[in-house]
Amino acid sequence: MRKFKLFFILIITIFALQINPVPSIDGTKIIIPNDFSGELKYENYSSLEERIYKFDNVSIIGKDQSGIYNMYCIELGEKEKPTILVEAGIHGSEWQGTMYSMKFMEELRDGTFPDKAFRNKLLDHFHIVYIPVVNPWGYDRTIPMNLFSGRYNSTGTDLNRDFYKFTQAESRNVKTKMDEFKPFAFLDIHMMQSNFDASGGNNIAMGYGQTQTKQVFDSFAKLLSQYSGQSITKWRAPPYENPINTGLARTYMRNQTNPYTPYTLSYIIELAKPVKRTTGLDAPLSDSQIMKYGMAGMYLFFYTSIMYFEEYNNNIK
Ligand SMILES: [Zn+2]
Repeated sequence: MRKFKLFFILIITIFALQINPVPSIDGTKIIIPNDFSGELKYENYSSLEERIYKFDNVSIIGKDQSGIYNMYCIELGEKEKPTILVEAGIHGSEWQGTMYSMKFMEELRDGTFPDKAFRNKLLDHFHIVYIPVVNPWGYDRTIPMNLFSGRYNSTGTDLNRDFYKFTQAESRNVKTKMDEFKPFAFLDIHMMQSNFDASGGNNIAMGYGQTQTKQVFDSFAKLLSQYSGQSITKWRAPPYENPINTGLARTYMRNQTNPYTPYTLSYIIELAKPVKRTTGLDAPLSDSQIMKYGMAGMYLFFYTSIMYFEEYNNNIK
């Protein structure tokens, strides 16, 4: 009888863990919503613009280098509050990142976000700035399951190498917002090919800004790994000794100061995207996994960034 009871408890525990993974960082229990979902379907830029204009606070941050497309910034929460910045689509071929981040922001806006308390905390105490597509020219020309089409902008520039010289309108427009709002946390959303050398054979890769914030990054990555069941490749912080060697958006951002924390958290996240190859479809993550892990990654980005913020600011509870 006792054995049966123990067995029963074990089954319940396993079941509960599967519904709501409850890992902990620094003694804090965190329950990551399990119902992140949505359709992952490419839509062209003009159709995306319709979704962008459904937000109350939308502004045009400038034209892209081609002069054809407007670039947008969506704001949630009050401008006077500490800023958290999220960008996607710096490589237009990585459109899935725009789709899942847009869904995340729409749920925050509409109150359909699965963690109501967290949503209220975010919108009451912080200012979210979201740039859904940094490279609209590439985004509008990409072929959904193609590897690189639309990666570069109209002049063939990799914008995620231009955040040092700022030769392109797109990177200058984003820099203007980074400098204006001085975020304490920044997330740059990408997608990668499954056999990308630097991904180390994993379907999720993440990078961070500076060794001084490595602990926060490690918590972020560990929680996402526990949630998704995926191993995560961790990229080291960009070196300081040769700042020109990369021109990465996250390098520029981590070098900036902000009024709230000693360092500016600065991350890149990459999920493996589906690619049609001559050998057939290569999709290590399903569309629903991309949606779910992408949104959970954003949730954990906000969550761990706020924990870091609260270490230095006692006014938010
Ligand atoms: Zn990319």
